[in-house]
Amino acid sequence: MSFSLTRLSSGTVLRHLFRVPGTSLSLPVYFLSGTSPGATLLVHAALHGSEVVGVEVIHRLLETLAPRDISGRVILVPVVNIPAFEEGRRCFSQTNQDLNRVFPGRSNGTLTERIAHLYFHKLVRCSDAIVDLHSTESPVLMLPHVRQRVLQPTQAHRDLMRATGLSALWIGPGVLGMLQVQAAGIGKPCVTVEIGSTADVREQDVKTGIRVVRNVLKFLKMIPGRTSLAKRDIVVQNTVPWYGSTNTGLFRVAVQLGQSVEKGELLATIFEPVASRTIELKASYAGTVFGVQQSPQVRRGEQLILVAPE
Ligand SMILES: [Zn+2]
Repeated sequence: MSFSLTRLSSGTVLRHLFRVPGTSLSLPVYFLSGTSPGATLLVHAALHGSEVVGVEVIHRLLETLAPRDISGRVILVPVVNIPAFEEGRRCFSQTNQDLNRVFPGRSNGTLTERIAHLYFHKLVRCSDAIVDLHSTESPVLMLPHVRQRVLQPTQAHRDLMRATGLSALWIGPGVLGMLQVQAAGIGKPCVTVEIGSTADVREQDVKTGIRVVRNVLKFLKMIPGRTSLAKRDIVVQNTVPWYGSTNTGLFRVAVQLGQSVEKGELLATIFEPVASRTIELKASYAGTVFGVQQSPQVRRGEQLILVAPE
């Protein structure tokens, strides 16, 4: 069945199933059509099937966002990578491909590539901006943050990142096939946010996710209200190394996410019960705690704590 955005009637919510060509899989997509003209914002979760905080964020948005309050259109996709979500895994085991590395996909490729192709051409292309919801892989937990994967973002992309209201920014190189990178290539700003981890759906993370989307909607003048723009005072490059574990034992964290630490301050201890000794991990520079490993037991060489330099 062909589908056209322009045929949606205003003030309504429509659930449409997009069939992935050549497969029996359908992708459920919700279209919230406002009563006045405006931008089209695409919000999705679970490009990685185990990252489900965003799924709950979208579920709540569907319950609370009323089309009559919207200018323009909001497109909500609770789960993009359905096969991986059904397995509770980051990637679908049968293709073993990372959906967020195969955009813009192939119409005659693997199931993962076909999902990417459908998603990119049917939904990304018809949107003005995209919010891409992710979570970190457990046992690592990080501050809710924006992931910048484009080396030189356009002004629209920069504005969108600030419009999230998140003051933490992680900057790393873009990889071809990532949605953010491929969307930038066709002039569509896509903001990737990491909220919570795969271990849990914490209420505070869900609320952060809802706040991020509502902030962006306000910034795009799609719902009333003022956005409090992020100042971006906590920035970390992917080249900043994590504090790693030098031994195997019980990990006790002495700091909290978002906490400022001074050089020489105690970050954590690792207790070795067999050798009956405790190793102290101290900050070698001042900064803000950006990521912390949550597992009580750690092994030599594991990433433990990431501190964004001052
Ligand atoms: Zn992810």
